[in-house]
Amino acid sequence: MKIALDIDGVLADFVTPFLQLLERRVGGPAIDPASITDPNFQHHPYLTKELIYDCMVDASYDPEFWRVLAPLPSPEQWQALNRLSRDNEVVFITHRWVRDTYDINQVTCDWLRGHGMDNPVVHFTQEVKSQLVRQLEVELFVDDRHENCEDVATQTDAVVMMPHRPYNQRFAHPKVQRIEDLNELFSYLNPNSVLSVPSIVKPS
Ligand SMILES: [Mg+2]
Repeated sequence: MKIALDIDGVLADFVTPFLQLLERRVGGPAIDPASITDPNFQHHPYLTKELIYDCMVDASYDPEFWRVLAPLPSPEQWQALNRLSRDNEVVFITHRWVRDTYDINQVTCDWLRGHGMDNPVVHFTQEVKSQLVRQLEVELFVDDRHENCEDVATQTDAVVMMPHRPYNQRFAHPKVQRIEDLNELFSYLNPNSVLSVPSIVKPS
């Protein structure tokens, strides 16, 4: 089965360092991650669209920002994901911006290798992700942004899983399966696996 995973918010903690970038730019107090209730940081008391865009641009030109992102899965989950990539075709689909000042594909692949993926394949796109999902004939798609999940769920036949995050908790779609973590992906693919103990999704 061909599987595609998003990186930021699924495998990498993007929100924490991005909030630190915003804090530095605003020069204000620490931003409570709980105040981020949607992935576009909209409807926030003082974070404006322009501010967020400027910080996104800064991050996009800074290879170090992406190199030091903390991993979200446990070491055991990385091992399981790597094992899965041997039996299935696992690819990564990201909206990270490509800049000509450095090779974001290299930085991203090095980061994935550093966490145990033997042979990562990353696709970068600025289009809706359903395009690549269709092109690559992906059958299972994992993303933390509800817009991407909705797009792929409505535009393709892929099974869609959305890890539970503070900024996606209000979203519900009949074709999008909310998961607590990657163990639920592993148990879906291999119900008899010892490693894959399904966890309980916390009520929002
Ligand atoms: Mg994401």
